[in-house]
This record gives sequence, structure tokens and C-alpha cells, in this order.
Amino acid sequence: MTELLPNYVHGTWVTGSGGGTGGGTPLTDPITGAELMRVSSAGLDLPRAFAHAREQGGAALRALSYGQRAEKLAAVARLLQANREAYHAIALANSGTTASDTAIDVDGGIYTLGQYARWGAKLGDARALLDGAAVPMSKDGVFQSQHLLVPTRGVALFINAFNFPSWGLWEKAAPALLAGVPVIVKPATATAWLTQRMVADVVASGLLPEGALSVICGSSAGLLDALQPFDVLSFTGSAQTAELIRSHPVVVRNSVRLNIEADSLNSALLMPGASDEAQALFVREVVREMTIKSGQKCTAIRRALVPQALYEAVGAAIAAKLAGITVGNPRDASVRMGALVNREQFEGVLAGIEQLATLPSMRLFFDGRRQPLVDADPAVSACLGPTLLGCDDPDGTAPVHRIEVFGPVATLMPYRDLAHAQALIARGEGSLVCSLYGDSTAEGSTALAAAATELAACHGRVHIVSPSVATTQTGHGNVMPQSLHGGPGRAGGGEELGGLRALGFYHRRAAVQADGAVVQALGAVPLVA
Ligand code: NAP
Repeated sequence: MTELLPNYVHGTWVTGSGGGTGGGTPLTDPITGAELMRVSSAGLDLPRAFAHAREQGGAALRALSYGQRAEKLAAVARLLQANREAYHAIALANSGTTASDTAIDVDGGIYTLGQYARWGAKLGDARALLDGAAVPMSKDGVFQSQHLLVPTRGVALFINAFNFPSWGLWEKAAPALLAGVPVIVKPATATAWLTQRMVADVVASGLLPEGALSVICGSSAGLLDALQPFDVLSFTGSAQTAELIRSHPVVVRNSVRLNIEADSLNSALLMPGASDEAQALFVREVVREMTIKSGQKCTAIRRALVPQALYEAVGAAIAAKLAGITVGNPRDASVRMGALVNREQFEGVLAGIEQLATLPSMRLFFDGRRQPLVDADPAVSACLGPTLLGCDDPDGTAPVHRIEVFGPVATLMPYRDLAHAQALIARGEGSLVCSLYGDSTAEGSTALAAAATELAACHGRVHIVSPSVATTQTGHGNVMPQSLHGGPGRAGGGEELGGLRALGFYHRRAAVQADGAVVQALGAVPLVA
């Protein structure tokens, strides 16, 4: 029988009491279907786990300055870097990802930690932050109001999605720990192994104070019941689960602060009149976004919009590139695209393609369901080729703006003019990211800037690709710690990253009203994002 991964709670490694025959939920290899590990959170003393983190971990972290906590983040990043081969091996086995896809998760997580370590170091010896400048409130100017940010006195609970077991932990934990807030992470069951191993390595190293980092693998049952008023909850996952979390009675009763990163119908827009060069960049990016991590990225391009006259030609160009993508077992060096996370996800993606492809105005520019697999059994593995759909009538086909197929699937659609394109994009009802493809000329830049300003209202990020940044742009779907991650409406309404802006979620803002001398004595430093 495979190993039952222990959970780290109240300073102890505890295995769940199982449940079901054999105990726990199995994690599998998405290529072979083999069972790798099992997880269970059954029987854990969650109130004790949360109290330990809150009291012991929180107090120990708050005793340190931002600068000292930043040093600890840097040390954790170095530790993870030293162990990265083990993490790549776990990702290969449990996520079925190619080395470059694993790097986005593992190395992306380590990079993000390193960035927060560097930014945090600049906050030095302070233990609180200033939000803006002091404002006089009396005629003589002596009595003032200063907004102050202090770390919240609770825990940060992270409930994460399966697609980024490493990055999903560290992009949240870096700002939380820097802020002085202890972390309890509950990774998605399917890929919990990598998160658990990273936490185990950090705990074993003793680099963080006891109680600063805990991990609970398996069912989420009882986690939300353990939340108290000063705790915060950061969730990443589907809109469906997000809805359950938002309406959970304990969350509602205790006004638990929430950050929700949910699903999103992200789009890519080829600008009207764009040059052939910009068009080629568009085609390249759509193909990349469809195939990186087999399209299992919340930021992946789901809707690609082109001027009506280019619809056929661009569809054919993307299809030609997709035909050249080798799909299968990432242990084979020729494979460019690995697996979906498991057979359940595979079935879900097939059902999603079927649902969209059978709508009246839809067509298939490229059908990945027919793609041959390299070194993977189509009856067993979770490997699936990329599929490009076309929607001839994007105005009359509501499901293409609503259904997120969480795999290597995108829909190309034609637009009449820029206003039409922008209206179609807005039908996603709030997305994480939109990318624009245009030219680097003065006229092109002006048009791109105007479109970006228009589209910013319904996106967390607008990513602009033009020939001048063709080789330096960071990628439509790549979430960089320098920029905001999140989006309004359907995307969950959350905000993560964006440099030191991320600290805001883990701090409480209070106005201190006092004699200017008291304000001066606060000893806090400005939060400069
Ligand atoms: P999911 O099914 O919603 O699960 C997300 C997390 O919630 C998992 O840890 C899951 O645990 C947990 N969970 C399930 N039911 C719960 C409940 N009733 N109460 C509390 N927690 C619960 O999503 P997923 O399938 O892992 O991830 C795919 C989705 O995430 C996609 O829609 C994708 O767009 C979205 N996503 C968004 C972002 C973003 O940043 N916006 C990033 C990545 C993914 P179990 O695994 O144990 O069920």
C-alpha cells in the first residue's frame, strides 16, 4: 500500500485517520494511472491546529521586523532551490508535466519568494506600515490622523487549486509571512504531494518559527468552521467552490476577510489593422497559452478575437502550429505537452469540448481528440491534444463566454470593429487577463493604450504584445509578482501580488488620531508598492 502523507498541525506530524478502505484518498500518476501516495485530513484537531498557528506562529512572526522576516523568506527560497530536483520529480510523477511546465510552478514559486525577500528587506526594522501621510484635523495642525497598517492577529488559510501546488503556495505565503501572519495551507487533493513535501522541507530546516507554516492534505471538511474574526482566507479554485466559501456561515458571521481567485474566460485580441508581424505574435501566443500546462492555467487564453477578414487565415495558422505539438508522456524528450492532472479532469475537458463544439455556430479548426499520443495509453492516461474551436456567431453564442474548459482548448471568434471586440470581451463578466496584439508605431501605441484603458475595467491585468517587446514580454498567462493577479466579477474579485500591494490583505488598517508627536513616534515606514 502507498504511503499516507502526514499533515503538519500544532507542531506535530499527524496522519489522518483515513476513511474508506485502505485509508485516505489516492494521488495518481496521470500517465500510467498508478497510485503514488494517499492523503487524509480525517480526525485532525483543527481548532487546536488553528489556535497553535494563531498564537504561537503569529506571536513569533510579529516579534520579527519586516527585514528579519524577509531574510527568512530568502533562506526558504535558497532551501527550495537546493531541493528543486526532488520537486521536479514529484511534479513529473503526480502532475504529468514537462520540465518547462514544471518550472513555471516550482521555479516560479521560488522566484516569487525571492522577490518578496528583496522587497521586504527594504522595509527594514519596522513592524508596522504607514498608509499615506498624516493629515491635520485641527486648526493648529497638531491633532492629526494617520492611517496605519498592522499585521492581522489571525491565521492565513490558503485553499488552493490543483494546477499550481508550488507556486500557489508561495505566491500567497511570501506576502503573508512577510506581513507577519502564520499560514495554514490546504492544497488541492489531486496534487497535494508537492505542497506537502515543500512544507516538510521547510519545517525540517527550522528556518521559520514554529507555527508559522502548517499543511493539511485531504478533505476541506471543518476548515472553514475553525476560522475566527481576525483570520483571512485566500481561495483559488472554481467559481462553484468559491460560491460555497463566500456563503459559509462562519465566514459570514465572523466577517472573515476573503480573497477569491476563481475561473476566468481570458481573451486575446488581435487589434484591427495590425501588421503581419503582430498577427504572427498573436498566433504564437495563442498556441503557447493553449499548450502550456495543457491549458490548465487560470490565466490561459480561452477566447481569441480577430478581425472578421482574418478569421479563416488565423484559424488555419493556429491549427497548423497545433498539429506540430507532440503530446504524451513527458518522460519522453520529444513530448512538448504533457497530461491533464487526472482522468476525471480529462473526462471533464472532453465533456466541455463536446458541449461547445455541438453548438450551432461552432466549428473545429483543430481537433486535439484525434492527436496521437507518444508513450501514453489513450485508455489510461490523462493526455489530450489541443483543440481550437471557432465560433462564427460570438454575439449569439452565450456559452463561449461562460464555459471554462480547463484544458488545452480555446475558441477563435471574429469581430466587426474594436467596439464590437471590446463588447465581446466584456461578456466574460470579469477576467484575470486580456492580451492585445498590435504595432509599435506611434499610431499603434496610441491605439493599444486606448484599448487597454477601456479593457482595464473588467480585468486584473492587460498584457500588451507588440514587435518591440516580442522577445522580452513575459507571456499572456505568466503571473509575475510585480503585477496584480486577480480579476473582477466572475474571476472572483480578488487581488494578489502586485509587489508590496499584496501585504494589504494581511494587514488591518486603522486610523490613529493623535498629537503629531505621537504620530511621529509610531515608527512605521511607508508602504511603497
Ligand atoms: P476546485 O475544485 O474548486 O478546488 C479548489 C480547492 O477547493 C481544492 O483545494 C479543493 O479541495 C477545495 N474545496 C473543494 N470543495 C470545497 C469546499 N466545499 N469547501 C472548501 N474547500 C473546498 O478547483 P480545482 O479543480 O482544484 O481548480 C481548477 C479551477 O481553479 C479552475 O476553474 C481554474 O480556473 C481555477 N483556478 C483559478 C486560479 C486563479 O488564480 N484565479 C488559479 C488556478 C486555478 P479538494 O481538492 O480536496 O477537493
